[in-house]
Amino acid sequence: MQIEAQKVVTLNYTLTDNDGNVIDESKDGSFAYLHGASNIIPGLENALTGKAAGDELSVAVEPAEGYGERDPQKTQAVPRNMVPEDAEVDVGMQFHAQGPNGETMVVTVIGVQDDSIMVDGNHPLAGVALNFAVEIMDVRDASAEEIDHGHVHGPHGHDH
Ligand code: ZN
Repeated sequence: MQIEAQKVVTLNYTLTDNDGNVIDESKDGSFAYLHGASNIIPGLENALTGKAAGDELSVAVEPAEGYGERDPQKTQAVPRNMVPEDAEVDVGMQFHAQGPNGETMVVTVIGVQDDSIMVDGNHPLAGVALNFAVEIMDVRDASAEEIDHGHVHGPHGHDH
């Protein structure tokens, strides 16, 4: 069975940056997604189209097809008094904040001064070239409900 829209794909992957650092990996067949539903980044999804269980492939994904380019305007200083006084704030910490249009976004602390905190609202992998080593474990038809919801159900998917 080939990978195409409305198939559920289970795969193992190792994600590394261009320096060979492992960013993320899934080795136990616990990662599944619904193809054609933008569950995963476009560069990887496109490369998987037409592949089948048992196939192994290496996929290099440029930022534009991954998590986007870094936007320097998403870096900003927020007053220290915006966070509770007893809250510990360290570089590398992530928390949810409200974006300019009221949307929830994850920001990463990139600097701490006495009276202000520098945060970066870019996705941590924005601007990063991604290298996936992928082994396709299983391909199956999605259920009508999964197609309707736009995500995978079952032990490795949504539980609701
Ligand atoms: Zn669902």
